[in-house]
Amino acid sequence: MRGGFDAIVIGAGAGGAAAAWRLTQRGARVLVLEAGPWFDPDRDYGLHLPDWETRSFPRKLGSQGQHRYGEMQPLDPAWDDLRSWHHDTGRLVQTGQRAVRTGYSHVRGVGGSTLHYVGEAHRLHPDAMALKSRHGVGADWPFGYGELEPFYVEAERLVGVAGPEETGPRWRSAPYPLPPHPLSRGSRTLVEAGRLLGQDWSVNPRAALSQPYDGRPPCNHCGGCTRGCPRRDKGSADQTFIRHALASGRCEVRARATVTELLHGPRRVIDGVRYIDERGKPRTERAGLVVLAAGAIETPRLLLTQRSRAAPDGIGNQHGQVGRHFLETLHWTSIALHPDQQDSHAGLPADAICWDFNAPDAIPGVVGGARFHAATLDADLAGPIKYATLLVEGWGAAHKQRLRRTVGHALAVGAVGESLPHPRSYVALDPEARDEHGRPLARIHSFVDEAACRRLRFMAQTCRAVLKAAGCGPLRMEYGSYDDFASTHVFGTCRMGRIASESVTDDRGQVHEWGNLLICDGSVFPSSGGGESPSLTIQALALRSVDGFLRAGRTGAARDEVAPGPHP
Ligand SMILES: Cc1cc2nc3c(=O)[nH]c(=O)nc-3n(C[C@H](O)[C@H](O)[C@H](O)COP(=O)(O)OP(=O)(O)OC[C@H]3O[C@@H](n4cnc5c(N)ncnc54)[C@H](O)[C@@H]3O)c2cc1C
Ligand code: SF4
Repeated sequence: MRGGFDAIVIGAGAGGAAAAWRLTQRGARVLVLEAGPWFDPDRDYGLHLPDWETRSFPRKLGSQGQHRYGEMQPLDPAWDDLRSWHHDTGRLVQTGQRAVRTGYSHVRGVGGSTLHYVGEAHRLHPDAMALKSRHGVGADWPFGYGELEPFYVEAERLVGVAGPEETGPRWRSAPYPLPPHPLSRGSRTLVEAGRLLGQDWSVNPRAALSQPYDGRPPCNHCGGCTRGCPRRDKGSADQTFIRHALASGRCEVRARATVTELLHGPRRVIDGVRYIDERGKPRTERAGLVVLAAGAIETPRLLLTQRSRAAPDGIGNQHGQVGRHFLETLHWTSIALHPDQQDSHAGLPADAICWDFNAPDAIPGVVGGARFHAATLDADLAGPIKYATLLVEGWGAAHKQRLRRTVGHALAVGAVGESLPHPRSYVALDPEARDEHGRPLARIHSFVDEAACRRLRFMAQTCRAVLKAAGCGPLRMEYGSYDDFASTHVFGTCRMGRIASESVTDDRGQVHEWGNLLICDGSVFPSSGGGESPSLTIQALALRSVDGFLRAGRTGAARDEVAPGPHP
């Protein structure tokens, strides 16, 4: 396809891929510009190779973004029980300052961060979308769960989600497209432990095929999802939305194409984009609709760098909202060894989950929930090297013997909790660091406040209690957000809302006052939820936003004339 595009999508991650597919489905010709490379599961992923355990998700030219971090906060000894530690080496963060050990974990590529995601496929708790009005904190979504529900159904079908029959508060208008996966042995032990504590653990909805589906084979429970799925059964965006968009014949994907500029005149309409192609040459493309889906760090960065007479503070930033309200993964993991063999080095990662504390008011004494899951494989305890380096001390023959007795015995419980907006958590432009094109890098500021610490303490205590009830020995290692910024889920930096002065987009992801610019990625979330993984919600939102934009166009509503101020 050469030129003549109706829409340009910037970024081929969870949200961009879903938006591109929806646009092609509605008859539009779409150009997807993706800064990162293509990944070929046959050639790039190494789970079938003898040295698989030494290979994490592959790095290719351009597959990692650059960013900086603001200064992290000093640590308060009152929360010392939340320090990350290892039974042998002691504290993982040696200083009295919060650290960036892992940082913002992501992939740039066709498929975005879903290429190395675990593949949990969650819907938000309906109550988590009304935090402000029902619980007095954070912000409300501009619509409720019922509005998003039909789009969840579509996204689940495209991705091929395998999930349980029971729904809890997340009511469904259709069952999951695929039956649930069987639980691994280690997860069955945790489910039983949860039951002893009066908790209800169940099967986690997963973007991994439990049966052949959509021309892809079922999962073989190898456990390596975050290393890249060579079988293509994991529902990463390249294998699902992008594949179907390309099959329509109306989509072209250009990889290693970094958008640097949103072209516009004085009328606050985006005319097209300027980008740097794979050979390093600047190029221009024009279209009537631009969908920005560069993720919650790069989307605000791109908007903030676009300063002009029409947008003196950056596009969409007339109310100083771009980059604010940064939400991160508030997480905790506890690891211990079980006396009996658990075969926990294999299976489907995060196959079991407990939603009991996920509602915003479910944790005593603090607003904002958390969920708990089987985290042994998330903690990468999938092979002998990790056991040898993390869990089994010593050297030589005795070490080998201990290792043989230990592999498969580790159990880990993980928790992810609500991340609430805080004035000290935001994304801004770094005043000094620039990329190779001279554009300022994004700088991530993260702050963990007292309420987050109280939530984290509940998460840590519950993880420890489940391992104890499972019959595990002493804890061997724990880590969490209190002293280490490590985020796989990032959101909130261009939040959607009804009041223009408090948000960046309207309820359909359209940037206020910019009639043909949609944001379809994690940055539009007004709240994070109580630990739900975000990709399915990002995708459902993208489908809804594209439909909303096209519907407004069909009915003749002038989307570029939306005035600032409260929306009806
Ligand atoms: C290890 C790990 C495990 C995870 N597990 C889960 C899970 O189990 N379930 C779940 O739901 N989520 C999970 N996540 C999170 C999930 O992957 C992300 O939330 C999701 O991919 C975000 O979607 P997005 O569309 O906002 O951005 P992304 O998927 O990050 O996509 C943004 C894309 O935009 C591109 N881009 C950026 N700037 C430009 C530019 N200037 N020009 C062109 N392209 C650009 C990037 O290269 C990238 O490909 C996990 C993430 C990680 C890292
Ligand atoms: S566990 Fe399943 S989804 Fe994950 S990498 Fe292995 S085959 Fe793919």
